[in-house]
Amino acid sequence: CGIVGYVGPGDTLDVLLGGLKRLEYRGYDSAGVAVVSDDGVLGVRKRAGKLDNLIQALHDEPLPVGHTGIGHTRWATHGGPTDLNAHPQLGDDGRLAVIHNGIIENFAALKQELADEGFTFVSETDTEVAAVLLGREYRRTGDLYQAFLATVQRLKGAFTLLAVHQDEPGRVIGARRNSPLVIGRGEGENFLASDVAAFVAHTTHAYAIGQDQIAVITADDITVTDFAGQPVEPEPFEVAWDA
Ligand code: GLU
Repeated sequence: CGIVGYVGPGDTLDVLLGGLKRLEYRGYDSAGVAVVSDDGVLGVRKRAGKLDNLIQALHDEPLPVGHTGIGHTRWATHGGPTDLNAHPQLGDDGRLAVIHNGIIENFAALKQELADEGFTFVSETDTEVAAVLLGREYRRTGDLYQAFLATVQRLKGAFTLLAVHQDEPGRVIGARRNSPLVIGRGEGENFLASDVAAFVAHTTHAYAIGQDQIAVITADDITVTDFAGQPVEPEPFEVAWDA
């Protein structure tokens, strides 16, 4: 239901949790974060229930420090509100994490295709199918952007999808179809979010992402393409909001 991604020198967890807090008004039943540490280890914490449950879990079992991360608040559509169904969902090898708003309408057919190849699933979500597909494509392409492109080309329905991979620290990739996604541009740090509210405390410089487009952010770079891989010039706008 709420999505935020961050790359930069700041306190990543603080940025993610602050962003999720500002998206709380939309309602949710679970929350989770993934952080890629600077030495390339993916850490994930997620909990059913209030953001406080996630904060407690992070307190009990801290994540390694990193400067690349994604955060999610879930409004369950496929699979009940449990820790396992909460996002991020992981690829089969545990090296990548995906968060998702919306519904992947062809998830059952994709899940069958992957199951036939021997992949197994730990959640009941439509989202995990995208994560496992992304993992398969990553091993085929060796590049997160190419893998992500191949993945979103297979998905039908409505999605805002964000991904990080531990072999590519410093990079968050997002896509949108029939579901919102915006970029926030900071000084040496960048944001992706379902709503400007998630990053307005940090920057009011934003870019709109069009229908069926992919955005890649690093700390100091933003690139946008369509789902065919063609470059797109994103439209800048100023958020009229006092943080
Ligand atoms: N369909 C996904 C799920 O049930 C995402 C729901 C959402 O938009 O939060 O896990």
